[in-house]
Amino acid sequence: MATILRDGDLSLLSGKVAVIGYGSQGHAHALNLRDSGVQVAVGLREGSPSGEEAKAAGLEVTSVTDAVKGAQLVSLLLPDQVQPQVFEDHVHANLEPGAAVLFAHGFNILYERVKPAAGHDVIMVAPKGPGHIVRRLFTEGYGTPALIAVEQDASGNARNLALAYAVGIGAGRAGILETTFREETETDLFGEQAVLCGGTAELIRAGFETLVAAGYQPEIAYYECLHELKLIVDLIYEGGLAHMRWSVSDTAEFGDYVSGPRVIDATARERMQSILGDIQSGAFAREWVADMDADETRLKSLRAEAAATQLETVGKELRSLMHRAGER
Ligand code: NAD
Ligand code: MG
Repeated sequence: MATILRDGDLSLLSGKVAVIGYGSQGHAHALNLRDSGVQVAVGLREGSPSGEEAKAAGLEVTSVTDAVKGAQLVSLLLPDQVQPQVFEDHVHANLEPGAAVLFAHGFNILYERVKPAAGHDVIMVAPKGPGHIVRRLFTEGYGTPALIAVEQDASGNARNLALAYAVGIGAGRAGILETTFREETETDLFGEQAVLCGGTAELIRAGFETLVAAGYQPEIAYYECLHELKLIVDLIYEGGLAHMRWSVSDTAEFGDYVSGPRVIDATARERMQSILGDIQSGAFAREWVADMDADETRLKSLRAEAAATQLETVGKELRSLMHRAGER
């Protein structure tokens, strides 16, 4: 079994840490590091809407350039699409000699879209959870697991620096695992495409549409194929598949064993292989980067298409009844 790390030497982060971006991950890293006693400066672009929020949280907020200047470590927590441009325009030339550059996902390093010079440590601390959970669990005294990796070890101490940062954001409370930029990127892309986002979204939609096409009420199909998924996933999260199967009825458990493999059959596994192949060959990255360069035209049209499906319109109505005002 892989070694799960819990401890790091926070005193390695005695200088300024520049957190660039104050979105999902940015706000969580900045606040958790600050609460761990690290000196944090948040670097934002001119007129950034999140600047006020960061200031209200008591953080020092500056331009990206000023945050990078004098920083021991620069954490690039911008959307993956904009990292290359911001790195080129504001980060690169202002890095202190020997400053470390940190990523929360390996995409831009693996596909060589950001190339820090040889004198800088290039490290990764990738929390395995959304930024808002990384912050919430930290304030509750828990942590979110994280992966660490070293791409470039200029200082000879890059691994320990990554470990210190991971501990600073609270990951040591949950477990820190060592990986490489390649392994993190390829598994992350595969997971979100085949299982977590793509696979789950299509499974829900296909189930919903199968019931509706057979003449069942869309509202019932929605409760059955989407709403209840959370309750099932909560059980899986708590105690694995066995715990979920223990909690559901024997009828549900029997149907699970006999029908699950008919949905996710050998051909589905072959298609998973081919999705993984496109990730490993770089074909997926080229496709996505081409769309980034085309003003994300395809992303925008796919997003609009998804929003217009019956699943979403029925869901909007039903959720408005189930959730308190202000929730989605
Ligand atoms: P995000 O989209 O939530 O936030 C990005 C921040 O960057 C925002 O505060 C925005 O104001 C700022 N920003 C956007 N464009 C900018 C520009 N041109 N110049 C300066 N600032 C700009 O991003 P995120 O989801 O937190 O992702 C950050 C990194 O963390 C990515 O590498 C991502 O892959 C990784 N990551 C994210 C999650 C997650 O839960 N969202 C999980 C693991 C890893
Ligand atoms: Mg992920």
